[in-house]
Amino acid sequence: MCSYSIRVDNCGHYHKKLKQPCKPAKAKKEPCIPGTGEDASTSGTPSCGISGCDKKPALKREGPGARTDGGFDEDDIDWNDY
Ligand SMILES: [Zn+2]
Ligand SMILES: [Zn+2]
Repeated sequence: MCSYSIRVDNCGHYHKKLKQPCKPAKAKKEPCIPGTGEDASTSGTPSCGISGCDKKPALKREGPGARTDGGFDEDDIDWNDY
């Protein structure tokens, strides 16, 4: 299974990145379904700095706006990095 890292800012918005893809994922250039092997940490920064953030402290949440899954987009993965 691929592992992901998640960084949660104090506002609750988070940034998700592929940390280490597993071999089949690398071969297919397609990560396993996110939600497994997540490795969460808090950044300690007051807000995510993404436009639309209300900058209120909160637990992990989606957003701001229509942003979901920590902004993770498998199309943005540069497989040459792994
Ligand atoms: Zn995988
Ligand atoms: Zn935020």
